[in-house]
Amino acid sequence: MTGLPGLFGGDNMEDREPEDSGPKLDEEDEWQLYASAGYASFESENENEDTQTELEQEEIWFDGDDFDFEGSTVNWDSPPCPAPLGIAHVIKIGVCNHCLARVSGKLIRGDSSEAGASIREEAYSRDNELESKIAQDYCPLCENLFDDIENIVDRVLGELSETEFKTMQFGIHLPKDLVQEEDRIRSKYGAQGSYHLKGAIVEAIHARIGELDKTIEFVKEKPDVMVLVDGLTLRVDVDVRPIFLYGRYRKVIRGIPQTRWPCRACRGRKGGCESCEGTGLQYVDSVQDLIGEPIREALGAEDTSFHGMGREDIDVRCLGSGRPFVMEIKRPLRRNLPTKDLMDMVQTHASGKVEVDELIWCTRKKVNEVKQSRSEKTYTIRFRAEGIDDEKKAEEGILSLSGQIIDQETPRRVSHRRAAKVRRRKVTSIDNVSFEGDEIELTLRCEAGTYVKELVHSDEGRTKPSVQEVLGADCEVIWLDVLEIHDD
Ligand SMILES: [Zn+2]
Ligand SMILES: [Zn+2]
Repeated sequence: MTGLPGLFGGDNMEDREPEDSGPKLDEEDEWQLYASAGYASFESENENEDTQTELEQEEIWFDGDDFDFEGSTVNWDSPPCPAPLGIAHVIKIGVCNHCLARVSGKLIRGDSSEAGASIREEAYSRDNELESKIAQDYCPLCENLFDDIENIVDRVLGELSETEFKTMQFGIHLPKDLVQEEDRIRSKYGAQGSYHLKGAIVEAIHARIGELDKTIEFVKEKPDVMVLVDGLTLRVDVDVRPIFLYGRYRKVIRGIPQTRWPCRACRGRKGGCESCEGTGLQYVDSVQDLIGEPIREALGAEDTSFHGMGREDIDVRCLGSGRPFVMEIKRPLRRNLPTKDLMDMVQTHASGKVEVDELIWCTRKKVNEVKQSRSEKTYTIRFRAEGIDDEKKAEEGILSLSGQIIDQETPRRVSHRRAAKVRRRKVTSIDNVSFEGDEIELTLRCEAGTYVKELVHSDEGRTKPSVQEVLGADCEVIWLDVLEIHDD
């Protein structure tokens, strides 16, 4: 959990329906915290950039970076390759066949080992004593890293043996001093435009993987899997990139939070505690898990993150065509099951609680779209108002709010975590006012971010005008439903 309530409780959090004040405050706070966590971790994982900046950027080279072209200062006493003297010099200092091919200027791409061997033979035939003058059999350019290609490839494919993927992006982390030394020697003795070590190593790894599995495609952005190899320890890190599903959910019963909410007593630890009966959850069900768990299981994924277009409170239903959301599926082993199959699993798992009509594969871009949307919404609300004797007059009063701009001071129940300010919101329309004893029900459409319950009970006058004010009677909210989210 990387989320802190204060950090991510931005504007996207305003788009929620108010909840009763009082004892629920703490629960609300906590929910806020966990609900924000998904978005927080999403932020920090945003594409590849952040992963890269966390490490020392200059030492890591990902395929797709621009190549640096280092102009060389020519040393006429020991000229750079491809001059025969230059080739003889790099052989003398011990370069391996791979690096020889790379810096000799004789080969740009291709099987560097074979090309290097023949360049070496040629040089030996020019100078009979050259072989005996070799200073060491340890390549100063790559520190014999090319000998580890097979080992690296084994590790990479081993790590990914259970994972389904098509595209791969490759990165390598080399010790800074090796990179600098390689750069120095290559600039001085290598042919102009010689390929740098990192690019050459990655290319050699690509080539070997390509021989073993022709279906893998190497890409420079948006891969299914990112592989980072440490050139010193040969440690392989595999980042299986998340996949995303877009849909709309209806929450047809009350009492379900939108996102997973860990148990308050044990903070959701593995195995849970007595108070959560071992589930680790405060509420067993959440929209996130009712939809996400069958998907996570089917795709062999590690976890999910839920990104909703705003959200309703636990006690509020969400009906109509449903609320748009993006389900982020983290580290999936499978990534292309037909959405129809996933839908069937979701419908079975969430039956009677949450409904989804369609799931569509999408990209991370959709998360921002959904998060940033500021749609009008239609609600049905039922409340108690005692002492209404003239229903006709009451209805007129309520309808007079239709089309009005209302001022909402930050509600008391959120004032400790929200800046105190007055929000100006429009009540687009009010319809279907009906009376039943001392209960009133109505439908209203209003701007995103309107505190609907406060609009009815006025929050002790903090919302102006309000239904309570026009009726001149205390109003107590009984229930609230989101009837439609107008996101088109
Ligand atoms: Zn080498
Ligand atoms: Zn617990």
